[in-house]
Amino acid sequence: MTETTIQDFNAKDSLIEWFDHHRRPLPWRKDSNPYAIWLSEIILQQTRVDQGLPYWERFMATFPTVESLANAPSDQVMALWAGLGYYSRARNLHRTAQLIQERGSFPSQSSELVKLPGIGPYTAAAIASICFKELSPALDGNALRVYSRYFAIADRIDRSSTLATIRAQAIPVLDAHRPGDSNQAIMDLGARICTPTQPKCPECPLHRQCEAFRRGTMESFPVKPSKKAPNVEDWHFHIYVDQGKFGLEKRVDQGIWGGLWSFPVAIAPEAATATALRCTHLLSHKKLTLFFHEKDVVKVPMTPAVQWFSLEEVKNLGLPVPIRWWFEEKNYF
Ligand code: SF4
Repeated sequence: MTETTIQDFNAKDSLIEWFDHHRRPLPWRKDSNPYAIWLSEIILQQTRVDQGLPYWERFMATFPTVESLANAPSDQVMALWAGLGYYSRARNLHRTAQLIQERGSFPSQSSELVKLPGIGPYTAAAIASICFKELSPALDGNALRVYSRYFAIADRIDRSSTLATIRAQAIPVLDAHRPGDSNQAIMDLGARICTPTQPKCPECPLHRQCEAFRRGTMESFPVKPSKKAPNVEDWHFHIYVDQGKFGLEKRVDQGIWGGLWSFPVAIAPEAATATALRCTHLLSHKKLTLFFHEKDVVKVPMTPAVQWFSLEEVKNLGLPVPIRWWFEEKNYF
């Protein structure tokens, strides 16, 4: 047995033992239902557990099976998703549910799962390992941080070659009988112990084998590319209210807030009036300053995209967070 194998063997056992005592009691972990696991993984992409949990509960209560999600109207899916951002994920979720329904069963291998809309290598490995015991490392940002420190990977983490290296090196760290639990242990470590700053190494089950800990260079990993400043844009929403109805248009599927209902918007420069409410909104790649202009309804542009909704109807639409914010600021909601 080589030294590396002994290390991996020890790490694998320590990891599973730690998971058995410290696992987070998350509701989708009660059984290995691939629908529940898949839904949780899609919701938790870019979202913290405490924020995503109520969404998962609402989705499971409204659509308890993949078939019920597949058969739902898209507006209902978008309305449940509203507030989570990255709306293409909701459209992909809906489409994938329909494809699984057509197929007749949930795919069990990561190589099949990854062909479905919205399921990348990480989600495919998570589902296949947790629900079907496939020996695949699930590598999201948290897991990559843990592994890059554990192996002291000096290459940039955004490179596909680095990902391939980590994937190969991580396999021996997974328990062949419980690969899903090993992956979930790594996810939990990344969320609670091996945090981006000030990792709690003495509490970590991997600290005896961790190379970054041995060197005292934990926060040097993962090696990231330098950050670009976000684009800054001003967006001007035009608010038309006619006889208690609000003029809204559905945003095109591609792009920001795709598939949600918004006031018509102009991105071209426009004078900000003193009365316009404003807020800032950060997206992953843009910083938006949003102005809300209450317009004269007589001058509403005759665009077929604008549809009229009563306040009760608006409450049931999928709305971007800043549009919902405007309704709340104005005491409509
Ligand atoms: S020992 Fe520290 S740096 Fe290494 S994996 Fe554990 S928490 Fe992360």
